[in-house]
Amino acid sequence: MKRSEVDRSKLSPMMQQYMEIKDQYEDCIIFFRLGDFYEMFFDDAILASRILELTLTGKQAGLEERVPMCGIPHHAYISYVDQLVDQGYKVAIVEQLEDPKETKGMVKRDVIQVVTKGTKIDSNIDAKSNNYIANVYAFPYCYGISYADISTGEVYAFLVEGEDNKVIHEITKMGFREVIVNDSINRELVDTLRSNYDILVTILKDGEEDNEYSYIYADIEDIRIVQTLKHLLYYIIDTKKGDLHHLQPCQVIKSSMYLEFDANTKKNLELVETIRNRERQYSLLWLLDKCKTAMGSRMLKNTILNPLTNKKEILRRYDMVSLLSCEFILRDDLINALSNVYDLERLVGRITYGNLNAKDLLQLKTSLGQLPIISKILGELHYDSSIETFEELYSLLDRTILEDAPFTLHEGHLIKPGYNSELDELKKISSGSKDFILEMEQEEKKRTGIKNLKVGFNKVFGYYIEVSKGQCNLVKDEFGYERKQTLANCERFITPLLKEKENIILGAEEKIISLEYKLFMDIREVVKRYVGGLQKVAKIVSEVDMLQSFSIVSDTYKFTRPEITTERSLKLIECRHPVVEQVMKTEYIPNDIIMDKTTNILLITGPNMAGKSTYMRQCAITVIMAQMGCFVPCKSASLPIFDKIFTRIGASDDLVSGESTFMVEMKEANYAISEATENSLILFDELGRGTATYDGMSLAQAILEYIHDKIKAKTMFSTHYHELTSLEKDLKHLKNVHVSALEENGKVTFLHKVKPGAVDKSYGIHVASLAHLPNSLIERADDILNVYEKKNIKKETFTQTSLFELADEEIVEKKNEVEEKVKAINPLEMTPMEALNFLYDLKKDIQSNK
Ligand code: ADP
Ligand code: MG
Repeated sequence: MKRSEVDRSKLSPMMQQYMEIKDQYEDCIIFFRLGDFYEMFFDDAILASRILELTLTGKQAGLEERVPMCGIPHHAYISYVDQLVDQGYKVAIVEQLEDPKETKGMVKRDVIQVVTKGTKIDSNIDAKSNNYIANVYAFPYCYGISYADISTGEVYAFLVEGEDNKVIHEITKMGFREVIVNDSINRELVDTLRSNYDILVTILKDGEEDNEYSYIYADIEDIRIVQTLKHLLYYIIDTKKGDLHHLQPCQVIKSSMYLEFDANTKKNLELVETIRNRERQYSLLWLLDKCKTAMGSRMLKNTILNPLTNKKEILRRYDMVSLLSCEFILRDDLINALSNVYDLERLVGRITYGNLNAKDLLQLKTSLGQLPIISKILGELHYDSSIETFEELYSLLDRTILEDAPFTLHEGHLIKPGYNSELDELKKISSGSKDFILEMEQEEKKRTGIKNLKVGFNKVFGYYIEVSKGQCNLVKDEFGYERKQTLANCERFITPLLKEKENIILGAEEKIISLEYKLFMDIREVVKRYVGGLQKVAKIVSEVDMLQSFSIVSDTYKFTRPEITTERSLKLIECRHPVVEQVMKTEYIPNDIIMDKTTNILLITGPNMAGKSTYMRQCAITVIMAQMGCFVPCKSASLPIFDKIFTRIGASDDLVSGESTFMVEMKEANYAISEATENSLILFDELGRGTATYDGMSLAQAILEYIHDKIKAKTMFSTHYHELTSLEKDLKHLKNVHVSALEENGKVTFLHKVKPGAVDKSYGIHVASLAHLPNSLIERADDILNVYEKKNIKKETFTQTSLFELADEEIVEKKNEVEEKVKAINPLEMTPMEALNFLYDLKKDIQSNK
């Protein structure tokens, strides 16, 4: 049964209420609170029952048929919401806004929040990563991008000038999973984001502005940035609804503040996850993360993706890392203190918005308790910012919240004695009466002589006196017992006195629970006043945690402090790939990477498996680590500050968008060439591999020349076209290096040692033999190679052995084919483009069969 086909006039009042709410939230699955359950109806129920594996039932709602329905217990809803949200659905939570006990007729209900991929807050979100909701706002000649983490309150924005491609690069690099766009945006961009990158995109018209949150953009002058922020906030406020004052004033990002690179580089260098498993383990992040707090880990991740470009700031971090490594005793104390600091940022988020419980406030207290220690250590280290220590807030929490308070706020047992006299009084009454009841049991036993008489309690009958069947005959009228319940083996009685005490106890308990809840909420309000200050401290603690982690990894893995030069020269002595080095079982061979002022391009040759790609990667990783303010995996290192990194590594097809390896390669090459400056680093790994030899080689050479003459970026270019090494003669800023291999008795050993000059053999066959291809096949390949090598001796640079020598008659046949093709066309009927394409194809035909 479909919702749209229902005769609404026949529906029960509650179902009508449901329909009205659903009308406003068409694109959401509605979790409709009914007593202790959240129920879903109609199509929502059919869909959710399938995804969540719930039983689909039905509800009488006034129609002939029952309405499809499924439900989940209210206390366990988060994991169900998460499952739906992770699959890209939005879930609207509808709550009862009135207490059903105190309401006549229908209870008022409404949406209290919408949960989406980018706006989860109460859910189990990864502690070590931010979860952002982003906004892309299209203006006539540029895009505004803003994003926020609702759980921590961080808000950022920046502008992207130019084409859609750049927007996609930014969005995918940051790993946004949900994006809001304005109405005038190019729909093709929306489709690409949705289908190629599985991003939840909501197209949203401009909404009304909410002055309550204008402080977030109050200091920003660029109206485009303000516009994108307003658009983002409109969505956040509309979905989250509650108090969002933990959202912080927006930080505007200028691209020049950070070392730029795109999602491909992030992926190729395995910065935050590995290519193979997409897991954190064995990524650079995994290696560097020795942070003690979740905040530190998140900052580290953000820093890996956004290394700095400001020399002063980078040196400041080096100084701190050095100092921490020298003062290792202080560092130990610092680490101990940090280990007891909880996620202040997300605690603050929950204090303002979301399901705060007493455990959260206890975690806040424990964290605050560490601040005086951290503050003292930072003072001793002459750290350049000091932290507030919030003694007053600590003492408030210490005086109020019970250490063993439960998770829920509706059972009492939250507030310590001595804080509120009314509460203490009620507790005294309640426990006094409980004592009275215990005493009463003893007295009744004595008075009646019934040995096994008991006083018990249950929810239905309250307090009662229980006498076993065997002794019931001892109950006399003069006791004043009133029979209440008969069970198989006993009888239960009450007396007026027992009921009187019961009233006092239950009345007091009800009052205690509601008073404790009120007191807790009052304390929450007080804590809210500290939110801004706590966020500041959280930022500093995150950075300190990240820096201690740098210091630890630098000691553990023997990293060195780099020197930042203002010259355009790079000198990495005995550089290693920090992750491969740790993961490898055998010894890692360090290599120098040297590009002096006059060298811009290193052309790297060497057999497969020699270590070319690793060599290039370790260079980029060293640059990134250096600009993060971390020490680097070298014996010594001096390098300039780079503005951007471009990489084309590996030959993975972009399967999602259905583009061939070659197309992807050329697009990435084009992106690099059009965006790079002389202060950039470019890594091209075997560029041109994806096409025919001549095509590939010519393109590779043209690209090298272009970079050499026009861009002048520091470039590492590995190639399997040995012919390219002769370019060294003509391009004075290009140097050949090669990775050697040792060949002995037909067996190859890889030395992984990079040396000056070119190499002339590819050893591909030996690699094949390492891969255990059949011996006969390897021998045959060797024979063929010998033939080629002999033939090739006389050949000029830029030619490559063809794969097949054709028999004479085949060549004749080919000629005839060409003749036939030429005869078949009429040049007068062709456009210039068609003619050119024809010529191109013809040439390709002839060439491939020459
Ligand atoms: P290429 O790109 O030349 O084909 P790779 O860079 O992929 O070679 O490296 C091949 C293998 O050699 C890698 O799996 C790596 O473990 C190992 N390797 C690379 N460089 C080194 C090195 N410097 N020391 C030790 N092993 C290395
Ligand atoms: Mg390689």
